[in-house]
Amino acid sequence: MQILHTVEELQTWSRGLRCSGKGLIGLVPTMGALHAGHASLIRAAAQQCPGRVAVSIFVNPTQFGPNEDFARYPRTFSADCDIAEREGAIVIFAPSVEEMYPPSAATFIDVEGLSERLDGKSRSGHCRGVATVVAKLLIAAEPDLAFFGQKDAAQVAVLRKLVADLRFGTKVVVCPIVREPDGLALSSRNVYLSAVERKQALVLSRAVRNVERLVSEGERRSGALIEAARRVFAEEPAIRVDYVELVNWETLLAVDTAAPTTLFAVAAWAGNTRLIDNAVLR
Ligand code: AMP
Repeated sequence: MQILHTVEELQTWSRGLRCSGKGLIGLVPTMGALHAGHASLIRAAAQQCPGRVAVSIFVNPTQFGPNEDFARYPRTFSADCDIAEREGAIVIFAPSVEEMYPPSAATFIDVEGLSERLDGKSRSGHCRGVATVVAKLLIAAEPDLAFFGQKDAAQVAVLRKLVADLRFGTKVVVCPIVREPDGLALSSRNVYLSAVERKQALVLSRAVRNVERLVSEGERRSGALIEAARRVFAEEPAIRVDYVELVNWETLLAVDTAAPTTLFAVAAWAGNTRLIDNAVLR
């Protein structure tokens, strides 16, 4: 496995592969601190793009707000390399902040509308940072397929729109949420949780499961589903709800009635840790 640090090296790798054969090239963008959720993305990429998968590891400063956890975000580079290699990546792209954002850089990408909804609403500038870094990664790696987790469902909506609007020749592949056996969605931020918060945090997946169950039993009214989820959250008063929403997964606009492609999404704070979870109500 090769470790590349510059955009030029990644472009040279990708263009070399494209000249040398017909297989698809896959990219898995991550911020590192890899866990089984990331591993599932890399595995899916390796299945669809055997021998042609790059994993990017870059803690992207522009997607963190001034009072967020950029400085203390977990960084576990050598363990990440082991996981990526084991799952079938052949390249790690690990650029410096200066490589991705030279001091003279002045270009950012705003996906208007979507950027102000769900996570973008409470994390000002977050979506702009995500859209900008992913655009830079797609331009550098020129992948046929880019793999993302449904865990960050609002991010997926923003990135699908980015790729469609700017006509990137890349297909967005969305992989299912990987969970702990007790239901907690895996996240690099779970390491911040105390033992007590870790238990309380289960309320997110409980609320999501409860809504899925109600939908399977025939409840479709958004108001009733949101209220049911809020009742579940009320069982853990220490968890501070950020949002509980039923939206169209493409526009992220609230819907009155659950339909296929409706996204039920929640975000909440366990202590200082912001957690998210969701389900697509198929
Ligand atoms: P991150 O490193 O947190 O930026 O995440 C990199 C990619 O991994 C994103 O596309 C995430 O949606 C995805 N991801 C994170 N957690 C999970 C999970 N529990 N299951 C599936 N994918 C995930």
